[in-house]
Amino acid sequence: MVKRNPEKAKRAAAHPDRPGEECKAEPGSTRPRVDPRRCEGKSDCAEVCPYDVFEIGPIDETVYRAMPAMVRFKLWVHGKKTAHVPRADACRACGLCVVACPEKAITLVRAEA
Ligand code: SF4
Ligand code: SF4
Repeated sequence: MVKRNPEKAKRAAAHPDRPGEECKAEPGSTRPRVDPRRCEGKSDCAEVCPYDVFEIGPIDETVYRAMPAMVRFKLWVHGKKTAHVPRADACRACGLCVVACPEKAITLVRAEA
């Protein structure tokens, strides 16, 4: 599990573009969606999430092979790692991950979407 970084979380909390409901949503009503073409697996999302929604790990090989060549190259350079959301049902839509992600790879979506 990635260790939480309180300084990064504080900066994300003060970000003027932070979306979400500041941890007031019903757990699991909203979930983060990670765009694997943008994600570089650098774990800022995992460092700021108060509910440990994210894990950083290898990208699914099938997903990887379906990417355009330039994207595959970029992912390869970054160790073919990506953010996974194994605990998406704990998300409370605080929006910290969205503004913390340097690649703008995360959007919040309704859980049924
Ligand atoms: S989703 Fe963004 S913050 Fe999270 S690992 Fe990927 S690039 Fe980094
Ligand atoms: S919005 Fe992002 S940081 Fe906030 S609880 Fe959900 S997954 Fe975690």
